[in-house]
Amino acid sequence: MRQFFVREIKDVMVLTGDEAWHAAKVLRLKAGSNIQVVSANGQAAEACIVCADPTEVTVRLLSVIERTSEPPIHITLAQGLAKGDKFDYVVQKAVELGVHTIIPLVTEHCVVKYDAAKKQQKQARWQKIAAEAAKQCHRLSVPVVQDILSFSELWMQERPNYTTLFFYEQEDKLGVKQILQQSMQQSFLLIVGPEGGFSKNEVAGARERGAHVVSLGPRILRTETAATSALAIVMYECGDLGGTLCQE
Ligand code: SAM
Repeated sequence: MRQFFVREIKDVMVLTGDEAWHAAKVLRLKAGSNIQVVSANGQAAEACIVCADPTEVTVRLLSVIERTSEPPIHITLAQGLAKGDKFDYVVQKAVELGVHTIIPLVTEHCVVKYDAAKKQQKQARWQKIAAEAAKQCHRLSVPVVQDILSFSELWMQERPNYTTLFFYEQEDKLGVKQILQQSMQQSFLLIVGPEGGFSKNEVAGARERGAHVVSLGPRILRTETAATSALAIVMYECGDLGGTLCQE
């Protein structure tokens, strides 16, 4: 059943803007069709379309749905800017895997360079991709794609009670598995480099700031593989990937 975002769950709700256009024009949903709606505060419900046109779709509440597709842990992914549509891919997969926040990161070896206008345009594009992915995988909230930050700006943001995992392919002692088995935290910052990897200064800077510099194993993963693998591993070990029931 298709999912749409509304302001709040009430007896009669109205989809507008992109939500109405997607329902009525793209999906050609008509009066009588049932959909799922999710409110800004993360509540879900089933509703029936009363009338639909590309600018406004009116729906009637059928039943509130007691479910959650939001993970029990809070992951922020700081991802080095990557070429082509790789970053689009990372955003989409990260949302499906349960990320809470994505921070596009400019590091020393980033190949792509954006001016202010391009940065704004890219952030808006990635936020749209996040919203579409959230709708597709029935998330109850849309993850935030922050403005592009530099490596130093990333560390200026306060993150109390976080476990910071800095993924470095030359790390040969500490694996991500060891850290996760010791960590009781519920909030994680995952930092993944661009195609060119991190500089030695950036690795040293991460260690100085208390990050766990960890390996994902003996093979060099592409940046998009590393990001999705890191998220899947943390979400499996500490979150709900693999099913919360399986973990009880
Ligand atoms: N310097 C790498 C090389 O020699 O080809 C390129 C970096 S890799 C393509 C992109 C990013 O993925 C790295 O900066 C790191 O964050 C992550 N990564 C890739 N393989 C990894 C591994 N085995 N362990 C930890 N991180 C890894």
